[in-house]
Amino acid sequence: MNLDSLREKLASWTLMNAPTGFEEPVLTAARDALAPLCDSMMVDVRGNLYAEINGVDSAAPRVMITAHADEIGFMVTSLTNEGFLRFTRLGGPTVSVLPGQRVRLLPEGKPPVEAVIGVKPGHILTGDEAYRVPPVEQMYLDAGAESAQQLTEWGLEPGTPGVFVGELVPTSHPSRVFGKSIDNRAGWLAVLEIAERLSKDRPAGDCVIVLTVEEEIGLRGAAVAAMEAAPDVVIALDTVPSGGTPELSDEELPWTIGAGPLLKVRETSGLSTHGPLRSLFRKTAEEHDIPYQLIIDTAGITDATSAQQASGEIAAVTLGLARRYSHSAVEMLDLRDLAQLIDWTEKTTRKLIDKKQLQRI
Ligand SMILES: [Zn+2]
Repeated sequence: MNLDSLREKLASWTLMNAPTGFEEPVLTAARDALAPLCDSMMVDVRGNLYAEINGVDSAAPRVMITAHADEIGFMVTSLTNEGFLRFTRLGGPTVSVLPGQRVRLLPEGKPPVEAVIGVKPGHILTGDEAYRVPPVEQMYLDAGAESAQQLTEWGLEPGTPGVFVGELVPTSHPSRVFGKSIDNRAGWLAVLEIAERLSKDRPAGDCVIVLTVEEEIGLRGAAVAAMEAAPDVVIALDTVPSGGTPELSDEELPWTIGAGPLLKVRETSGLSTHGPLRSLFRKTAEEHDIPYQLIIDTAGITDATSAQQASGEIAAVTLGLARRYSHSAVEMLDLRDLAQLIDWTEKTTRKLIDKKQLQRI
């Protein structure tokens, strides 16, 4: 698979700003991209986008392939008289990397406003202070305004969302890139590429491609989507924090970027992936020489869990992409993992031909 083309597509998807609850830019672009590929499409009132690709055998399992549209971000909580902004987090940006970060604020109906998270000058930090991260409530955004009134003129108000800033950066390594919102534009790009292939060469069962909202604040969209789409199988594609860096031991996070996509056996307080489905994925990987990493995720949870819990009779599985520096502005991905994830998911979806394959005994 052409990694340059994947890199270009990922760059354009990560350039879009779609903090949780404000996913419209990604939803709109996804609707345009899916329209020529699918037989029907709809958007529910929550914002989840559904695209149906009809299969050729009505007896085969109905498969939902899904990724979330939203990215972590920020929300303005108040304006100070001096022209600064207090904020809270949307989802879980890593607090320790916030001081000094660039943030792009997204006022309604006005151009984006560039800001920085203010940071006390290093020269005057004393003792412990130099090594301590202040609580988010004590942090503030500085957009260069001279007063609260000026902020208001720029369209900023309590409730204005914001995102990390940073285009996708290629590294000197041929397949490694870093940037904001790799979580989960990488997962979504995989879903879209799979949709293109399934549209050209139809699978046995009907496939519903779902782009969900509000994942980063509690996996909310997927619970609604699973009830609406009523699939037999849910395949959720998402990113997972990676090990393999100097501060993490192999016991903590034994999987790494560049060693193949991830197959979750279990995720935190959530699903154990469906046994027969997991076996089918492993068999496909072995047949096609696709490397993969089997993981037990003790820190993360995905839309597969909420989909499975929302609607009882679903066989669910999560496939992941390891990415370094999770929930920061510089998440790092290896595009080989992404290419392999696309092949693996497409090939396994084609093997789902009979609902009996999902029976555990
Ligand atoms: Zn995610």
